[in-house]
Amino acid sequence: MFKAVKIEKDDAGYRAEYADVTQEQLPEGDVTVRISHSTLNYKDGLAITGKSPVVRHFPMVPGIDFAGEVTESSHPDYQAGDWVVLNGWGVGEKHWGGLAQYARVSGDWLVPLPEAFSSRQAMAIGTAGYTAMLCVMKLASLGVTPEKGEVLVTGAAGGVGSVAIALLAQRGYDVVAVSGRPENTDYLLSLGAKEVVGRELFSEPGKPLGKERWAGAVDVVGGHTLANVCATTKYGGAVAACGLAGGMELPATVAPFILRGVTLAGVDSVMCPKAERLQAWQLLANELDADKLESICEEIGLSEVVPYGEAFLKGEVKGRLVVDVNR
Ligand code: NAP
Repeated sequence: MFKAVKIEKDDAGYRAEYADVTQEQLPEGDVTVRISHSTLNYKDGLAITGKSPVVRHFPMVPGIDFAGEVTESSHPDYQAGDWVVLNGWGVGEKHWGGLAQYARVSGDWLVPLPEAFSSRQAMAIGTAGYTAMLCVMKLASLGVTPEKGEVLVTGAAGGVGSVAIALLAQRGYDVVAVSGRPENTDYLLSLGAKEVVGRELFSEPGKPLGKERWAGAVDVVGGHTLANVCATTKYGGAVAACGLAGGMELPATVAPFILRGVTLAGVDSVMCPKAERLQAWQLLANELDADKLESICEEIGLSEVVPYGEAFLKGEVKGRLVVDVNR
């Protein structure tokens, strides 16, 4: 018997609870992992609250990330005693996930825990941080270099935003952070932002084209914010779009793309090919400042997870939440 967060949906309604689960209930897979740490991402908030149909069948153990030690493996790449990390692949949505003391998954979904990180640090990064690196890689691949000018990060005080600021500042970019929570200004400056601007500057309907300011941007918000970011991106710039914290719609015109050659580049972490994942984790190991990582994370126990689901959707979580699954 072990502990897990379990989501049920039946005649009694949709509910997530801290529960006991048995090893026999674990899904099929060729690698079993004793999890040491997991984390909470925005998508886990959607799963726990049921606000969006993230969970495809029930009962489900949520948790799109975990780090831990292999206890059993018939996969050629892993053996008992190896430390591994999992991000995405539909885990916590279609396959039982990381908010538990054990998981059983396909070894093809795992990456080795980078030597630079403890399992707690890997989960302080989690999908949010690994996605932030995918966005930074995307901007770099599209020619957005530090000399090109300022880069914008929306949803700045959240998980993706916080790590993106730290990574971009470390690479020498001038980072402007967009946040709806002025109380986090000092926090955002400490991560390396050179300026913090209010969310309201971007969240209302805007013109098809605005004054050109950004060489590039990382957007986690979507909606009018993403439209306005594109409309104010400089000629030849690029916007890495990875989130929908402000909405799913994109009320934009084609003007920035056809008149300024702006690139709107989508970033997906869930099905991202393994080679790119390994590259992202290697770059995180090389570039992410350990003190900054510690400063953005807060730790909670597995038994405390459920109420945090709502907090995510209200935009109340700052930085990253690490989950110690053994308390
Ligand atoms: P998070 O920690 O909750 O951060 C989201 C941030 O967005 C909040 O902290 C807040 O920042 C801002 N925000 C929240 N509600 C808003 C609203 N209504 N309008 C404008 N800004 C709002 O979530 P996260 O884990 O960083 O994830 C951010 C987004 O990226 C989510 O939509 C998530 O699903 C998506 N995501 C996608 C991928 C992918 O593979 N594509 C991977 C990871 C995450 P401020 O308080 O600073 O304004």
